[in-house]
Amino acid sequence: MRPNNETPSICGSLSRFAFTPRITPSSASTLVPSQTSVRCKRKMSSRPIQKRPAPRKRSTLTQVKSLDPIVCKGVDVHTLILGTIPSAKSRGVGLTTNDIHLRGGSGNQNYGNSRNCFFNIVGSALGWRRDQTPYEEQCSSLTSAGFALWDVLGSCDTLGSLDSQIISSSQRTNDIPKFVQKHKQLRRIVFTGNSYKIFAKRSHFGQWLRLGHHSGMHTHFLVRKGLSSTSRTWAQFQSASGRVKKGFDAVHLIDGEAYARTRWGGDVRPLELVVMPSTSPAAATMRPPEKEELWHRGCFRFVRPPSSYICPGCGNQGRRTSHGVQHSSGQALCHWFSQCPLKVAWLEDNCKDTRRSREECGTSWYR
Ligand SMILES: [Zn+2]
Repeated sequence: MRPNNETPSICGSLSRFAFTPRITPSSASTLVPSQTSVRCKRKMSSRPIQKRPAPRKRSTLTQVKSLDPIVCKGVDVHTLILGTIPSAKSRGVGLTTNDIHLRGGSGNQNYGNSRNCFFNIVGSALGWRRDQTPYEEQCSSLTSAGFALWDVLGSCDTLGSLDSQIISSSQRTNDIPKFVQKHKQLRRIVFTGNSYKIFAKRSHFGQWLRLGHHSGMHTHFLVRKGLSSTSRTWAQFQSASGRVKKGFDAVHLIDGEAYARTRWGGDVRPLELVVMPSTSPAAATMRPPEKEELWHRGCFRFVRPPSSYICPGCGNQGRRTSHGVQHSSGQALCHWFSQCPLKVAWLEDNCKDTRRSREECGTSWYR
């Protein structure tokens, strides 16, 4: 709370007027603080002024549409990354200065919120910095590596940018099965945050997950064992007994060898499912550097930090540089943030105040 002497008030203004040095002799008799001012001072010193809570913003219902799928012509798509639907900032609404700086222009941009770390993570995986790369180049870098970007929902009515603010009855899905059919080499769907839950709704693609059949296509959905993303993904399908939940009969947990034997693009389409943490700033239980490692492992399938990765804890870079933390042998350690020897110190420096920590961590991490 602000100290009383900093609190702007009518009483403060009155006392400054009453004791101003520019008082004329004729008015000298008035050089006493008024009763009002004394009363106010007493009141202020004994009872701190309480701030009124800011009035709540009224949410307005907005109809939102998905952007077109982002793919690279002539490149086989192996992984489809599915969000729920573009947020207001992705659609260019309510941008901050930092948003505009990072966007480098206006218009619709997937994950265009400067505090959404999706493209920061993609950049550290593929070797560029978000703040130095135009949005179009960010997308082409991702898609030319065989990734495609789209949304589960084609349109919906929403009260805000959170998935929980989407009106259920208004949801219309994109034609994901058609996209899968069209891209014969597509073998993996990566869900960001809650987009999986929207996908799996009975009114959307729940039947596909249960029967495996959709639009004349027979699909086996696979969750691969032994990956950092396995437990997060399998938890969506696992019953209390450890088996697959009722209603997900077409979903299978398989080991690496069985996965390697799967035939892609035949009559039965195997599709691996991967659930990743949301990159939205609203998903604040995990910090951006922690999300970054999970995405590198789960979506990009790195087993070691890529050469372009810079550990936010110590500044050590991927596989090559010699600066940063060094091993006793003198060699630079190659690690993600979770194994950083300076992780605790970094968190203390960047996350002192628990209420501000997530935002502070996020802001200082973006680069
Ligand atoms: Zn480090």
